[in-house]
Amino acid sequence: MKTMITGVRPTGSITLANYIGGIKGFVEQQYNYNSLIFIADIHGLTTYIDPQEIRNNILDITAMYMACGIDINNTALFMQSDVLEHCNLGFLMAFQCSVGELSRMTQFKAKKQSLGKNEKDMGLFIYPTLMAADILLYDAQIVPVGADQRQHIEKTRDFGERFNNIYGNTFKLPDYQIPKIGARIMNLQDPSIKMSKSALKDDKGTILMLDDIEITRKKIMAACTDSEGKVYYDEENKPGISNLISLICVVNNMTIEEANKKYKDYNYKDFKIEVADNVCKFIKGIQDKFYQYRSDEIRLKEILTAGANKARIYASKKL
Ligand code: ATP
Ligand code: MG
Repeated sequence: MKTMITGVRPTGSITLANYIGGIKGFVEQQYNYNSLIFIADIHGLTTYIDPQEIRNNILDITAMYMACGIDINNTALFMQSDVLEHCNLGFLMAFQCSVGELSRMTQFKAKKQSLGKNEKDMGLFIYPTLMAADILLYDAQIVPVGADQRQHIEKTRDFGERFNNIYGNTFKLPDYQIPKIGARIMNLQDPSIKMSKSALKDDKGTILMLDDIEITRKKIMAACTDSEGKVYYDEENKPGISNLISLICVVNNMTIEEANKKYKDYNYKDFKIEVADNVCKFIKGIQDKFYQYRSDEIRLKEILTAGANKARIYASKKL
């Protein structure tokens, strides 16, 4: 059986984009693979967050994973820092890459521009070495992620291959798996940038899975569109409308063609109402389950401990 892995950083409240890029595809396929899903708390340290908030975010994500359908009888759900083999192998991966290639990584260049007061750039710089370790440690071959992580998975392949060439066949090489619809969900207010959970607090362009659904409705109704007045998918010329089409397709399991056909006679206001109704209904269903899981912190911590014990069996052997 092949292995599948993915993760989310505890850098803020989970967005609908994180659900679409990293969680949905994973949950749908979890029984087809040896499955691992983790909270990337060490990666999260590249973004400064108050430590107490990180602890809270970790439990939120654990409950969110459960609410989204992670089955811990099948899937190891754990916290990255509970399996320190990630760091050990991450260090070894540093010997498989050059300063030049790491400094050309898109995420490094972009995030370096916006470092906050308590943030340094070294962690960002070596991000790809730790991410390679996260995946190679488990011989994972399937990695469901959003399009923003494609380059990191390609680097993971490179580092693993270089290591294999020098030291013998040690690691299986992964493939990214990017969703057909919603690979890059854009910010509702500025559809030229991706939706991100570590965006400013109260960002009107970011849909949080835990926002009050009336707030989500308002955000969708205020989404940036264009002046043409026709609903159809055209990412390049109609990024705002195309983004909303992606959202409704994902929550309703529709294809883009089906949506183009169904909404072609809608005006933007009616279309937004339709998107808001469907997205809110979908998120509300997940929220109801979330609050049930979130109310039992002891259980959430037990889940993470059990998941780490399971993950460590593979990780320590491989290391
Ligand atoms: P941060 O701003 O802290 O980096 P993020 O929203 O980018 O937050 P990550 O924890 O870095 O979230 O990524 C978690 C998963 O969500 C990854 O699989 C990533 O590819 C996916 N993802 C992030 N943003 C988007 C997006 N806009 N569209 C689709 N998938 C996304
Ligand atoms: Mg990110």
